[in-house]
Amino acid sequence: MSLNGNPVTNVQQSVARRAPLVVPPGDRWLTRQVERLERRLPAADGSPVWIERVARLHDGRGEAHAGSFLRHRRMVIACSRAEFPRVFVHEWFHFAWLRAGNPLRRDFEALLAAEYRAGARGELGWSAEWRKNALSGAEVRRRARRWREYCCESLCDTGAWLYAGVARHAEFTLAARFRGRRQAWFAHHIAGRRMSI
Ligand SMILES: [Zn+2]
Repeated sequence: MSLNGNPVTNVQQSVARRAPLVVPPGDRWLTRQVERLERRLPAADGSPVWIERVARLHDGRGEAHAGSFLRHRRMVIACSRAEFPRVFVHEWFHFAWLRAGNPLRRDFEALLAAEYRAGARGELGWSAEWRKNALSGAEVRRRARRWREYCCESLCDTGAWLYAGVARHAEFTLAARFRGRRQAWFAHHIAGRRMSI
């Protein structure tokens, strides 16, 4: 079977489309922010992701900036306007990490394990940093659940550092030489690629 002379497999690839980020109608500020950040982020395919702002949000540890319900395709954000770009991009990368596949995830883990062995302190966001500070060497070596959670948060914080357009922030505490390696990893594995979210 073919359409316009093309094998169907090619047609299916060509209809994969940019994942729509859906904002409540009437929220013009959120619409502008999301459109601006979407232009900075890698292209991404997938079904719609619904984004909403709420006044307050709590998770298991208390007040939270945001939460993503990955399988329900929902992102709920409760941060200040100033923090929105970092928080939104962090959450966007949670969707990307879920679908990134094990080879890519393991490659990023290897980068972080090398940093850990080199004694790198600090991170590119508090979400990754507190998890990193709570890890034991044994958890790192056996790739414990808390280590893998840290790797996920670190990927999201690194993505936010690179794509949110925020040059300076008190939570960017990772030393410059390790930041350079993260940037190179993203340039090689993420930038210019189509992602699934
Ligand atoms: Zn997170």
